Order: sequence, then C-alpha cells, then structure tokens
Amino acid sequence: MMHAEFANTKVICFDLGNTLIEFGPRQIAKQYKGLTSKLTEMFGSCDTAKLKAIRDRQIVAPYHDGYRENDVGDCCRELIEGIYPITATEAQVRELAEERYKIFVEIIELSDVILPLLTDLAKSYRLALLSNFPCSRSIRDGVEELGMTQFFDAIVVSGEIGWVKPDPRPYQVLLDQLQSDPSECVYVGDNWLADVQGSKGMGMNSILTTEHLPYEKFERKAGDLEPDKTIARISELRELFL
Ligand SMILES: [Mg+2]
Repeated sequence: MMHAEFANTKVICFDLGNTLIEFGPRQIAKQYKGLTSKLTEMFGSCDTAKLKAIRDRQIVAPYHDGYRENDVGDCCRELIEGIYPITATEAQVRELAEERYKIFVEIIELSDVILPLLTDLAKSYRLALLSNFPCSRSIRDGVEELGMTQFFDAIVVSGEIGWVKPDPRPYQVLLDQLQSDPSECVYVGDNWLADVQGSKGMGMNSILTTEHLPYEKFERKAGDLEPDKTIARISELRELFL
C-alpha cells in the first residue's frame, strides 16, 4: 500500500554503497588487503598501518575539501609515495589504479532481495542511481556486472562531476538527465550527510536506510534536515511504494 507521504513519487533515486550493495568495514578491509598485495608485488613489503592511515584519510577527504571529489591517480600516487621512499612514475600510478578498479568490481555482491525489488519498483517508477565514488568506471562496470544497469534511467557518479553529494551539483546533473522535478523524486541512501542532507537540500523526499554498517560516519548537527522516513531494511521499500 502506497504511503501518503510518497504519493507524488515518480522517480526513486538510489545511492549504491551500503544502500543497494554492502560496502562497509568488511569490503573496505578486502580492498585494503588487495592494495597491500599489489603494492607488495610492485615495491616490496608494505606498511599496512601507513596504508590504512592514508586510505582512511582519502575516503573522507572530499567532505573536508568543499565536497571536491578525489582524483584516483592522485590517491594512488599519494599511497605509493606515502609508503615507499620513491617518486612514482605515471605507469606505476596507472597500474595501481587499474588494480583498485579490479578489486572493487571483484568485491561487490548483491543480496538476493535487490534484483526482485528493482524489478517490481521499475514497473511503477523510474529508477536512478547517484553514487559518490572517484572512479566512474568501477561503479558503471560493477553495476553492469551485478545486472542492475537495465533498471536505471540515469546513472551519475561523483567522479564524473568533480563534486560529491551533498553538494548540489551531482544531484542537479541527475535531475537534468531525468528531466524531473525534485518534488517527484525520492532519494534512498545510508549516509546522513551525503544522502539525507544532500537530497533534502535539493527538495527531494529522503529515505535513510540503516541496513548496513557504514565505514565512515557523519554525526548529526544542529539544524540538519530530517529524512522523511528511516528504514532498517531496503526491502521495506515494498511496503512504502508497492
Ligand atoms: Mg552509501
């Protein structure tokens, strides 16, 4: 039964990490392990504490730099030069970036509920995806491998725009591609700052999902906008929209 508060909905927009796929501490640990193996192969024994410190800082850097998205090459260069006493070549930076891409696409998995849920929602709504991630190819190829591309009328990745959610720019690109009014859109995401504050600030309705444990956490601040609904399971969208 359709909830009255979402009666105007024509488009359901999704975040990816920790919303449609789990991308929490377990996946981050696998990513760090993969990067450690690759760096060890390329340059010798890798200081994993240094790697973790650099990566942890890089993950949240856009939120402390005016929402400017990271550059993948710069991140890889910083990782190599922060761990080893060398100046990385362009080829070495590219090799590590390519490994990062491969690790991401290998790590991500879909739970059993997602494809049936998207299939059913797509019968009544237009669906879209907006993800914060510096490497657009990782998201687009990952989403394709998981069989989700077909459901989305628009896919936007922050790495293509240069700014991350909650900055209005990635949201505006999504709305322009959809040619939709924000009042007809519901945004579903797990991140209090990027997803809830970002989408509410654009005039969208907002649903916060708490199903997965996020790696990076943003505390609520005075004056923050509240989501229209909080759900503990993504499958609760069935009761809200079908
Ligand atoms: Mg997320």
